[in-house]
Amino acid sequence: MSDKSDYYEVLGVPRDADEKAIKSAYRKLAMKNHPDRNPGDSDAEKRFKQAAEAYEVLSDKEKRARYDRFGHQAFQGAPGGGGGAGGFSNIEDIFAAFGDIFGGGGGGGGGFGDIFGGGGRGGRQRQARGRDLRVALELTLEEIDAGVERHIDLKRNEACKTCDGSGGKDGAKPITCGTCGGRGQVMRRQGFFTMSSPCPNCHGSGETQENPCGDCSGKGLKPKKSSIQIDIPAGVEDGMRLRISGEGDAGPGGSPRGDLYVDIHEKDHKIFQRSGPDVITEVPFSFGQLTLGTTVEIPTLRGRVEMAIPKGTPSGKVFRLRGQGLPSVQGSARGDQLVRAFVEIPSKLTDRQEELLREFENIEEEKTDEKSFFDRIVDYFK
Ligand SMILES: [Zn+2]
Ligand SMILES: [Zn+2]
Repeated sequence: MSDKSDYYEVLGVPRDADEKAIKSAYRKLAMKNHPDRNPGDSDAEKRFKQAAEAYEVLSDKEKRARYDRFGHQAFQGAPGGGGGAGGFSNIEDIFAAFGDIFGGGGGGGGGFGDIFGGGGRGGRQRQARGRDLRVALELTLEEIDAGVERHIDLKRNEACKTCDGSGGKDGAKPITCGTCGGRGQVMRRQGFFTMSSPCPNCHGSGETQENPCGDCSGKGLKPKKSSIQIDIPAGVEDGMRLRISGEGDAGPGGSPRGDLYVDIHEKDHKIFQRSGPDVITEVPFSFGQLTLGTTVEIPTLRGRVEMAIPKGTPSGKVFRLRGQGLPSVQGSARGDQLVRAFVEIPSKLTDRQEELLREFENIEEEKTDEKSFFDRIVDYFK
């Protein structure tokens, strides 16, 4: 905090400088160190931010008076943290707060309009953009495994055909919005901070229509059904949100479209359960199959594979089929398929089966005759 430069020194003005002198000094500094003029020059960016911080304080009567009395200490512990008065974390904040300085026209700045106005930054275009839209998409595990193309039907704003998106009747030109002065943003003070939000009158476009188009009531936009095709990459997961850039609503006054967000939902599968990149399958076997060993065909997401079940496989044993799981969205290796083998107890037996099974049990009991059933349980868990 204490290493902060004196605000008057930063702007290069005497301590008794008037509002006009402060504003003009700030403009000069801001122009000189503007990031668009000094791309990649971090020193210039630092000076640009310092100047904005100094100007924020010295251009405000109350803050300036406090600063004159207490110096930088005046703003320590202010709401919003150490920065207090200044502390612009990024360039966009500065444009949002002081857009009026940079906007063309006002104040006889002459060349300003060319440098700061209109263009991508600071000017009114900054906020004007179509709305983002959201859709939900249900996918099967097979679709997630392979990746899928989907057509999505949605209703979104498109430029009005009648007025060609201008919002004006019979080619009437839009006029500068009176509420925000064409900036598309309105400033609101909140404690030490100046917040900006889209203008409620022109919705951020900076322009309104005196003679509005009857078809779109001057908005220049009309809701329209569209069907768009999107590619879902393989390996997406339930709860993921994909951003399809430029597929949202058309923007006001020909400004860029918003984005489309696709929320992924995974349908439950009859035989596969997902665990991250792995899939789990429960496979029933007879007592005989697990005891004697066998070969079975196991369903995978991409067809069947043969799997050998060794002699004496305990119920509940999990086998791993490498690479038979799902791909990851990052494109790394596939997960595995986990096959859990368990014994299915038959509810009905033929007489012959029952006879053989009783015989089997008799032999088992002879093999272990001294041990009680309880002892055998204890042995099992040893
Ligand atoms: Zn229209
Ligand atoms: Zn406005």
